[in-house]
Amino acid sequence: MATFDPRPRKPIVAGNWKMFKTEAEAEVLIGQLLQRLDPLIEGIEIVLCPPFTDLPLVGKLIDGSKWHLGAQNIHWERQGAFTGEISPSMLVGLGCRYVIVGHSERRAYFGESDETVNRKVKAALAAGLRPILCVGETLAEREQGRTEAVVERQLSGGLDGIDQLSGVDLVAAYEPVWAIGTGVPCGAGEAERVSGFIREVLGRLLGDGTAEEIRIQYGGSVKPGNIAQFTSRPGIDGALVGGASLEADSFATLIREALG
Ligand code: PEP
Repeated sequence: MATFDPRPRKPIVAGNWKMFKTEAEAEVLIGQLLQRLDPLIEGIEIVLCPPFTDLPLVGKLIDGSKWHLGAQNIHWERQGAFTGEISPSMLVGLGCRYVIVGHSERRAYFGESDETVNRKVKAALAAGLRPILCVGETLAEREQGRTEAVVERQLSGGLDGIDQLSGVDLVAAYEPVWAIGTGVPCGAGEAERVSGFIREVLGRLLGDGTAEEIRIQYGGSVKPGNIAQFTSRPGIDGALVGGASLEADSFATLIREALG
């Protein structure tokens, strides 16, 4: 007999380590996480996104677990004279399953545009990587009442030309820029409202069936103590976590709280 699954999408929590953790520090963190979290955890997908330099080691340390490896950036070309860049096949070769694309720090500090984000999303999908596409408004944009317009532009630009897609292969992250690293998260009701808008736009771009399959994370000052306010909402399918993913106790607690 089929059982009723109240959650149509498997929750996904990703830790974005940003530019933190040397290899030695990564080894300690993964060792502690493996002690605190079930490596064969069910009911939630865990993705660790360390800096490029830690990917081989972290990949080796979590081998045999159900946790996934993700990168924080990608280049769209397969190879070539692109000093300092990393290609999709290089990430695949290191065991990456996910890649963060269009994080607001990359848009703000490294000139990423909707067009380059779009190239990266396409390149990731073509290589078999699942993009975690970040969208979100700045404080000024929110105050001008432009949240929906900004998010819609980032989604339609980032997904331009993509029409054939399995929903599980794309994750969207609603990350209001003003909530990232500030300790001031978005209210859960507002995060769910914008996530609903994101799903509506995804439906227009990719079809309603695909949009229903896509996981939409919330990101911005998620911590143990507040993650459940987001993940308990049916329209929010997990979290993209920066600061609180850098410490084993907080990340493990946060995952347990997300599981409910
Ligand atoms: C992020 O970097 O995507 C993020 C959400 O950071 P923090 O959790 O530290 O706000």
